[in-house]
Parts: sequence; structure tokens; C-alpha cells
Amino acid sequence: MTQRVLAPWTPEQVQSMRAYQASQYTSTLCCLNVLHRPNVAFEVEPEGMVCPSCAARREWVHEGIANGTWRVIELEQAEQIDELVTRWHDGEGGGAGLHEWLGLSEEEYGTWLETSQLPVNYEVPRRPRSTSSFVPPTQRSPASSS
Ligand SMILES: [Zn+2]
Repeated sequence: MTQRVLAPWTPEQVQSMRAYQASQYTSTLCCLNVLHRPNVAFEVEPEGMVCPSCAARREWVHEGIANGTWRVIELEQAEQIDELVTRWHDGEGGGAGLHEWLGLSEEEYGTWLETSQLPVNYEVPRRPRSTSSFVPPTQRSPASSS
């Protein structure tokens, strides 16, 4: 995602960018005007992005946001997070809080729950499968009983 794509954008690009802005698995592009914090998300118009709060404009995005390739990253991340949450509920966290298991600080986790926004540059942690997972007695191999 190194190439920049300048406004005006085609309807397909606008659609991709609006979906990107609305997605819970992307880092929403926000107006950085310090006069209105927390940051306000840009609204995507064919002529450029506009801050609804101060009318600041942004007229470029990285290629991947405009052409839809960001969706691949989003889907992968969504699946990985879902899997980690399931594993945590299955007791794999080893007593860690869910936020730690997901590689988030408590504050980041709170933000994620409230606004569905993950931190910029967030990467889903790789958690190797535990080899000593609890196995219910009924599923143990009969060979192990004497
Ligand atoms: Zn603004």
C-alpha cells in the first residue's frame, strides 16, 4: 500500500473507502485537527475526504484503501481474532485476561469494545496451540486406563 491515489475518486473507489472507514478491523482515517479530540473520522466524498467537524480536507489515500485490497487484510484479521476469542473461552488463555490474550492493553481493549476500533498497526498475536490442553475424561483414549 505504498502508491497514493488522488481525488476525485470513482464510485467504486468511494465505495471501497467508505467501507474501509466503517470497518471495525481497519485504522479509520481521521482529521488530525487538535481542536476537536477525540479525532473525527473523515467522510468520503467523490471530490475528497471531508472532516464533518472542521471541514478540513484530505485528497489522497493509499492505493490499497481505494482499490479494495484492504479487505483481504480485514478478513484475515477478523478470522484470527474470532479464533483467539474462541480459544480463550475454551480456557487456553492460561488465566490471562482476554485483552492480554489479544495483545491489547486494557485501554485499547476498552476502546475496541466501545468503538470497534483497533489500535493503529495492531497485529493479531500468534498464539501457539497449547499441548497440555484440558481433555474431558470421556474423550480420553481407553488405552491410557489400566
Ligand atoms: Zn477536523
